[in-house]
Amino acid sequence: MKGCSIDIMEKRNLTRTKIIQYLFHHPATSKSELARDLDLSMPTVLSHIGELLQDGMIAEIGEYASTGGRKAKSIGLNPSYCQSMGLVITANHLEMVLVNLKFEIQSSRRTRLKFSRNLSYCAEVSSQVRQFLADCSGNIPVLGIGVAIPGIIDPQKQLVTKSHALDLNNYSLQFLSQALPLPAYFENDANAAMLAEDPQKYQNAVYLSLNHTLGGAFCMDGKIFRGQSQKAGEFGHMILIPGGKTCYCGKSGCADAYCAASALTNGSRISLEEFLTHLLSKEPDFLCLWERYLDHLAVLVSNLRMAYDMDIILGGDVGGIFAEYPEQLMALSEKLMLDNRFDPDTSYLRTCSYKKEASAIGAAKHFFAEIC
Ligand SMILES: [Zn+2]
Repeated sequence: MKGCSIDIMEKRNLTRTKIIQYLFHHPATSKSELARDLDLSMPTVLSHIGELLQDGMIAEIGEYASTGGRKAKSIGLNPSYCQSMGLVITANHLEMVLVNLKFEIQSSRRTRLKFSRNLSYCAEVSSQVRQFLADCSGNIPVLGIGVAIPGIIDPQKQLVTKSHALDLNNYSLQFLSQALPLPAYFENDANAAMLAEDPQKYQNAVYLSLNHTLGGAFCMDGKIFRGQSQKAGEFGHMILIPGGKTCYCGKSGCADAYCAASALTNGSRISLEEFLTHLLSKEPDFLCLWERYLDHLAVLVSNLRMAYDMDIILGGDVGGIFAEYPEQLMALSEKLMLDNRFDPDTSYLRTCSYKKEASAIGAAKHFFAEIC
């Protein structure tokens, strides 16, 4: 008898989770849509929605046009129910965001802080995070802090196995975790950026994070694939040109040296915005540089498509250029069609949903899964 009641409770919890996850990806819906799309009976939907309304997690947000009888209410998540913080650590900066239950950025702050292994660094991060939360969180509870780090991370052990960007090997994150005022979750920055995307839309996809360095991630059946030693998706260090340019990892010819944003900014001598301005003014040197960049990126994307046969999302700062300028995405597509004799088109090529702060949003989202 006891076993039976546990089964009923589990089933009820599963249904609640399904409803909340549905609402994460449908900003406004109705009870009848929920019943239809999730294959639930109307009494089950009414019972759960009643509870969620009472909890304050969802709210009635409008009315559908009347079809004769009483107007149906549209419901959606209540963005003020709770929020989560995302924190990105890089060699020279901290990036902080507060994200609401609709995955919208409520506040963000970027400060200059040089990474160091000293405990004083953890104390300074803690102080800046506390200040940010005090200034921006208001009365809305913050569930936790998702921390994105450029490096190979073991989230369970809270360990950075390796980070070239921060010059770390087997660095414990426990001090930082203890210094933070809320529960912390640590994730590789490219994995976090992938997690910012809608998992319903991208059950199986490769994410290329085209920032100053090139990060990568991929998910299968809606879950990040980490590999045997947490380094799956390190596409930046696959050899693209044997014996080619020196990569910051110490090898020659890595994809990073050709396809990261730093290939366009001459290793940060100019900003990517400046590069874009020169490119859009059609200055010959910059057109030529972009052309070569697209050639290399096309080879990398084509190889990834052959290996994974999944959608490929172009993210990071350069991904933002492709999202903003469809003609540049077309130029890449044309080159891809020359390299690829297997796909009839390039509809697998996608642009990222968040041009900025994707890693911070993805890391923050971790805590929303806990309230489902
Ligand atoms: Zn490399």
